[in-house]
Order: sequence, then C-alpha cells, then structure tokens
Amino acid sequence: MSQTPDAVIIGAGVIGAATAFELAKLGWKTVSVDRNTQVGHGSTAGSCAIIRMHYSTLDGTAFAWEGYHYWRDWADYVGLPEDADIAKFVEVGCLVMKTEANGHLEKHMKYSGELDCPFEEWDPAKISNRLPIYSLDSFAPAKRMEDHGFGESNGASLKGAVFWPKAGYVTDPALSAQNLADAARQHGAEFRLGVEVTEILQDNGRVTGIRLADGEEIHAPVVINVAGPGSAMINEMAGVTHDMTISTRPLRQEVVHVPAPAGFDFEAQGTIVSDSDIACYCRPEQGNHILVGSEDPPCDPHDWQDSDTDYPRDFTDQWTTQAMRYAQRVPSLGIPSRMRGVVDLYDASTDWIPIYDKSALPGFYMACGSSGNQYKNAPIAGKMMAALVAYCEGGGDHDTKPLQFRLPYIDRDIDVGFYSRKRPINDESSFSVLG
Ligand SMILES: Cc1cc2nc3c(=O)[nH]c(=O)nc-3n(C[C@H](O)[C@H](O)[C@H](O)COP(=O)(O)OP(=O)(O)OC[C@H]3O[C@@H](n4cnc5c(N)ncnc54)[C@H](O)[C@@H]3O)c2cc1C
Repeated sequence: MSQTPDAVIIGAGVIGAATAFELAKLGWKTVSVDRNTQVGHGSTAGSCAIIRMHYSTLDGTAFAWEGYHYWRDWADYVGLPEDADIAKFVEVGCLVMKTEANGHLEKHMKYSGELDCPFEEWDPAKISNRLPIYSLDSFAPAKRMEDHGFGESNGASLKGAVFWPKAGYVTDPALSAQNLADAARQHGAEFRLGVEVTEILQDNGRVTGIRLADGEEIHAPVVINVAGPGSAMINEMAGVTHDMTISTRPLRQEVVHVPAPAGFDFEAQGTIVSDSDIACYCRPEQGNHILVGSEDPPCDPHDWQDSDTDYPRDFTDQWTTQAMRYAQRVPSLGIPSRMRGVVDLYDASTDWIPIYDKSALPGFYMACGSSGNQYKNAPIAGKMMAALVAYCEGGGDHDTKPLQFRLPYIDRDIDVGFYSRKRPINDESSFSVLG
C-alpha cells in the first residue's frame, strides 16, 4: 500500500465498489478488501439484477427511479476506455399484476405519478397480447406444492396490470461491479482481494482500521461495512449492534432457470413480470430461458442462515415449488428434470429496507440490509454513502440532524434518515423482496 488510506471499504460487491468509486471521485484514498479473489463474486454475482421502479414507499420509489438512470447511461457513468467490456442493461419493461396483496398497485401508481416515472395500466387483453403464453386464471393465495388445491384456480381471473416501460435487467451483475472497481481504480482506489477481515480495530472510542486473517492491520480513520450477507458479522465485530433497531441476517434463496415454451421467444418478446397472485417474479434470461424468483409468500418458511459462507448450495423442493407455481401461469412451460439456476443469500433487514448509515462507533459506517432489492440502487447508494461519510466526518450529526441528499437525475431531496439503523420498523414496507 502506497499510503495510509482515508477509508477502508469491507466488501467489493456492486454496492461496495460503487462506494469506492464515489469516494475516490471525491478525492478520498480508499482501500477495498474482499475475501473473494474476484470483484462482484458475493451475492452480486447471484443477483437477478432487475432494475425496476415500483416500491411500496415514496422514498423507495424515488431512490429506484434515480437508480435507473445510471444503468441507462452506464458507459458514461463508469467512464472506462472505449474497448472495455462493460455491463449491458436491457430495457424490457416490468409488468406487475394487480392483486389484493399489492392493493391493486394504487399506492405504487400514486408514487410513480408524483415522481414523473412513466407507467401504463394494462387490461387483460393487452397482457395476453404481449404474453400469449400466459393464462390469466387466479391462484391466490400462493400454496406449497403439497397443499390441497395446489395448481387449481380459485375461479377468479386477473383483472389487469401496470407496466413500467423503463424497467430492465443487467445481463452480467458481477461484470457491473468489476466496471465500478475499474472506474474507481482510475481515480486511485485500491482493491485487495482474497483477504478476510477478522477484527475491527478501535482506539479511544473511534475506529482505527481492520485486522485481516493473516494478522495484517490496515489503519484508516473510516471503515465502511458493505459486506452483504456478511454484514451482521462485521457489525458484531465492531460492537455496534446495541443501538440498532434494525438488524440484518443472511436469508437463503433459490432462483429457477427454465427454458421458455417452444414457439415463444421470451428473450426477445418477454418482459419482467412481478406476479403476487402466484408469488413469483420472472425475467428473460440468455438462451431464451426464463428466470423465476420467489416473492416470499407467507406459506414458504424463511430459510435463515447463521453463516454467509457455510450454507447449503444445492437446490431443494423450493426450486420445484417455484417452477410449478410459474407453470400455473404458463401452462405450456416444460420443467426439465435437471434443476438449473442460482442458490444465494439475501442480506435481509428487519423491515426489508436497507440501512445506509453511520454507527455508534465514530468513523464506522454501514451500507447493508439490501434485502434482495438493492442491486438496482448500487450507484446512487454509493454516491449517497460518500456524501454521508463526508457529512459526518465534516462534523455533521446525522443521528440528530440527518443528511438531506439531492438525487441528481430526478432533482429531488431525500432525507437519508429514512435508512437509519435506529428507525422504527417501517410499516409501509412489503416485508418481502419487493421492498
Ligand atoms: C438471488 C438474488 C437475487 C437478487 N435479485 C435482485 C434484483 O433482481 N434486483 C435488485 O435490485 N437486487 C437483487 N438482489 C440483491 C442484490 O444482488 C444485492 O442487494 C447486492 O448485490 C448487494 O451488493 P453488496 O455489494 O452489498 O454485497 P455483496 O455483493 O454480497 O458483496 C459483499 C462482499 O463482502 C465480502 N465480505 C463479507 N464478509 C467479509 C469479510 N469478513 N472479509 C472480507 N470480505 C468480506 C464478500 O466476500 C462479498 O464479496 C438479489 C440478491 C440475490 C441473492
């Protein structure tokens, strides 16, 4: 290391790399550390990387609508040489079925309207026109495969949906984190890979750096916990959990990849669909596949994990349950006997809203609890974390006078206290991956 860094960032996933990039642009000398040997190979690599705008809170919607613009303008944002391999954003739109569970999306449309985020209401005929492979029978509430009546319609049918045309997905989320790391390096940031943090160093009531597994110490006046599903362990190491009302915990997830039904090019004509009637979301996946994730219905037990490294990586009957739930909507879907997809961890927070905050330990910050829904916000979260660190290190008391932060694209101020570790549990949240 050439000089003592101004800040150590624990984690080189998409949010950690964005934080490094944004701090480096402000002139901070940062060192990012990650136990993986490649950038972006924590939960970022397993992400479905869906960039959508509809959230159940106004702040969540504003943040995600702001976040979209960075993916739209990715090449300009990262500013890498022209021949660099950069992540691709595919703008296919996101269709969300109106259901009782989401209040027929009244709130979501209101918030999008307030923020000038475009959306369209679709009737059943329009849904069938875009997705001719879809049956519009209703199956709510979601059941487990072994439950009586699984796969039988409740006799009703879907009445409509809302389409957000600007939504899309990123084809290679790990590459997007690597783009951010390369962009940060262009501004002098350093990345140390294959090193594990085992201790948060402190002196006189302030953080002073980190110790690595081999005993090496890296000293810095600022340390930022962006450890993804490992965030709770890092917060424990720092001894900062006592004043937090919101905690974080690794939650295991399975994502299904199935081929699209013969005769329909889902990759070219499909869209992202969030369907709380069957508790599944999906998006097109390369090779004319469909990727199917779970919207965490109450009948599915949460698969909490104690460790972010030592957890079962094989698929279980959860994979089959999700595939079968999606087959209710797409009766021509073939379900292969070989299970393909992703097993990974969310860093779930108590109310499924992230924590972007300082901590009780001066100099120690956290960007965690991303709850399966913050990939899309990584660039703006990085920018906001950089502003928060600068504000607090400049003498601002964020706990009593929270930072007001301008979202530059949508030109709107947000109260960063919304993401406080000490907030009351937010009742407006969906308490699911939907945020
Ligand atoms: C299956 C799945 C699907 C998802 N789908 C979406 C989606 O469609 N849209 C969306 O917006 N979000 C989605 N998400 C969420 C999104 O992927 C995450 O919010 C985001 O990737 C988190 O990035 P991060 O940088 O905070 O964490 P990570 O990418 O997990 O990075 C944390 C890093 O910290 C490192 N680390 C941890 N502990 C230590 C230690 N002690 N020492 C050194 N290094 C350490 C890890 O090795 C890791 O690389 C999904 C997540 C999952 C798991």
